[in-house]
Amino acid sequence: MRNLWLKKNRFSKAFKTTIFAFMDYPSKVLAKAVEEIAGLPGIGKKSALRLAMHLLKQSESQAIALSDAIKQLVLEIKYCKECRNFSDNDLCEICENPKRNPELLCIVEDVRDVMAIENTGKYTGKYLVLGGKISPMEGIGPNQLNMVGIEQKILKGEVKELIFALSATMEGDTTAYFIYKKFNQFPVNFSSIARGIAVGDELEYADEISLGRSIIYRLPYNEKN
Ligand SMILES: [Zn+2]
Repeated sequence: MRNLWLKKNRFSKAFKTTIFAFMDYPSKVLAKAVEEIAGLPGIGKKSALRLAMHLLKQSESQAIALSDAIKQLVLEIKYCKECRNFSDNDLCEICENPKRNPELLCIVEDVRDVMAIENTGKYTGKYLVLGGKISPMEGIGPNQLNMVGIEQKILKGEVKELIFALSATMEGDTTAYFIYKKFNQFPVNFSSIARGIAVGDELEYADEISLGRSIIYRLPYNEKN
């Protein structure tokens, strides 16, 4: 009897899933909205339906503000012509800011890295967004990255130091090495953000590579540490 009940219950769960996959929406407009929302990364049809229902429960003006923001994002956002950061104008706020030090150029993979470093409030130089990293596995070579941007910046003669702020992965290291080989005949210094033990990490749980790098690139100790 118990086995029978279990079988029935399992069947009913599978049945429900199948029903949902082929579910007929009561409205074509709703079906279209669910389809579009489910096209976003990490969102399945169930969550898409929940979000669509949420939008319908909100006030009209809230939902329209969201749709306007999406429209504006897609149609109006620009890439800064100097650094490829997102911008509302030809130049981004960082490139336009006369207080930023043009001698320091921080090389990052994408705009999220610019935002992360800016959030620290510790960097006063400028950026160059590569748009990715060299990855033979994904078919991304140096020609698909913003190498021209680095060259133009160096040829202008203002840059004194290129700072690599790339992922601590094989692809990140390959990208840094490629840029170094390509531009090391120019009179610029090269540096890389420090890698090692993260703040709050217990030493015994750190991986060997990070711990090894922390020893090699150790810093003088003073009250700022
Ligand atoms: Zn810029």
